[in-house]
Amino acid sequence: MTFTYTEWKARAAGLTFRNDLYIDGAFTPAASGQRFETVNPGTGEVLTEVARGGAEDIDRAVKSARRAFEDGRWSRKTPGERKEVLLALAALIRENIPELALLDTLDMGKTISDSSTIDAPGSAHFFQWHAEAIDKLYDEVAPTGGRDLALIRRVPLGVVGAVVPWNFPLDMATWKLAPALAAGNSVVLKPAEQSPLSALMLAELATRAGLPDGVLNVVTGYGEDAGQALGRHPDVDCLVFTGSTAVGKLFQRYAGESNMKQVWLETGGKSPNLIFADADLDAAADMAAFGIFFNQGEVCSANSRLLVHASVKDELIDRLRDRASKVVLGDPLDPATTMGSLVDRAHAERVMGFVERAKSDARLVCGGERLTLMGSDAYVTPTIFDRVEPGHEIARDEVFGPVLAVQTFETDDEAIRIANDSVYGLAASVWTRDLTRALSVSDALFAGTVSVNTVDALSAMTPFGGMKQSGFGRDLSLHSFDKYSALKTTWIKY
Ligand code: NAD
Repeated sequence: MTFTYTEWKARAAGLTFRNDLYIDGAFTPAASGQRFETVNPGTGEVLTEVARGGAEDIDRAVKSARRAFEDGRWSRKTPGERKEVLLALAALIRENIPELALLDTLDMGKTISDSSTIDAPGSAHFFQWHAEAIDKLYDEVAPTGGRDLALIRRVPLGVVGAVVPWNFPLDMATWKLAPALAAGNSVVLKPAEQSPLSALMLAELATRAGLPDGVLNVVTGYGEDAGQALGRHPDVDCLVFTGSTAVGKLFQRYAGESNMKQVWLETGGKSPNLIFADADLDAAADMAAFGIFFNQGEVCSANSRLLVHASVKDELIDRLRDRASKVVLGDPLDPATTMGSLVDRAHAERVMGFVERAKSDARLVCGGERLTLMGSDAYVTPTIFDRVEPGHEIARDEVFGPVLAVQTFETDDEAIRIANDSVYGLAASVWTRDLTRALSVSDALFAGTVSVNTVDALSAMTPFGGMKQSGFGRDLSLHSFDKYSALKTTWIKY
């Protein structure tokens, strides 16, 4: 499925947006009647006005989810029955890839090439993977011996609240929903206010696939009201969150001040990419550029710190400058574009603040400009800073934009020390041809995932998540089910 620029624009012009809350299997306005604008950052145009859900709507959605959970319309279906519905959902997502891809591209500025070949197909794949896994997980019998039988079974938790960010709207929602639903829970999803549209379509598709009403509810709205209300709701059993570290900490507080619900956090990152002198520099440069410029750098695991051996730094910088010059910044709807706009003007301003302050600390190699394209000034050019020191702001804080901070090291120990000198621990990459070095450096790095001779290695088969203030709990893989189930022991004497 490939479309031309003209065809994507025509499809975008023909879209109708779902813009109400989705509760109990139906679209409904917010109780307050309030709405908020969702804007296409690629052009600055208002796409539609979306229902602004608040505490009352969250309560309605949680009640609907609770009713669905307790009457067993989903929670007591067999894993095989749940699998069939979620496979049907995966098939419907595949049939609707162009529309789902357009919704994410229009809502948050990512390129249509990525949303139509990575995000939307990825969502179908992740639903399929978790659906296929759920009827292959066996429970346990404890080795009690004697006339005792102790069953240890995984049971669904109840009502799961999911709060997700705007950088991969459809996929971040999917990473939570697929295992939560497969495991038999009901869910209330709160998408980011910048990118609510694909979640609403996903909920509608889930109903068409056969998911019973009330099992998946979507409340659009702002973090401080709808998000907070979900985090504090006394009848939510588990809150899963992907977003910034600062907001992740709030969810811990909300849980502590309400019903002590379980909280699982996937938060920020400042991932180091370590390039040793024996690395394949061409491959390392290709992937280092991908690691910071993919998705406009708005990636939690973006390789935003590049640590390179001093002896090969200049060669690597030349290659990186070349890769940055090949990035095509432009209309996200144009298939020729390789970097779209940032999510909104406010974020572009924030990213440019980091860039301006870094100019007095470090050496600007390329980029560092904010452009106005298609009437929107949310575009930032691919930016590389050299001579960054470990204490500089761009070496420590998450920029969440296309801004690379290059630092040098002389020894392996120094590389490890600089890499680990961060409050974050989401991902890291190591480039070397020496297997012993690859393994010993990987062992020493505090990161949920270490990619060797690649960046951002990720699949449905492997757990994804952080250490330190990048969070805890894992998305993807069979381990993702751990967050959405309790272990229940039933001990029988006979
Ligand atoms: P954010 O923390 O601002 O928002 C995330 C979600 O939290 C949104 O739905 C938002 O409405 C909600 N929220 C905001 N303030 C809230 C509050 N006071 N109470 C309750 N909810 C609130 O993050 P963002 O700007 O949408 O996304 C960028 C961040 O997400 C980055 O820090 C990035 O690293 C992180 N992220 C992490 C992962 C991961 O897997 N570790 C993946 C993607 C993004």
